[in-house]
Amino acid sequence: MEAKCPVCESPVQLPDDVMPGELVECPSCGATLEVYEQDGVFLLKEAEEIGEDWGE
Ligand SMILES: [Zn+2]
Repeated sequence: MEAKCPVCESPVQLPDDVMPGELVECPSCGATLEVYEQDGVFLLKEAEEIGEDWGE
């Protein structure tokens, strides 16, 4: 499975068992990207560097 990096628009390979909310790193620009799903398609957005508020 493949998605497009929103930063540099390079294709980013996703694991077959990828889940929405997972973080992946773009191999081209090194950006940390969060996987999300829209209309059954996996997409990537820039992850925010917060990591505190996971809303347990
Ligand atoms: Zn990129």
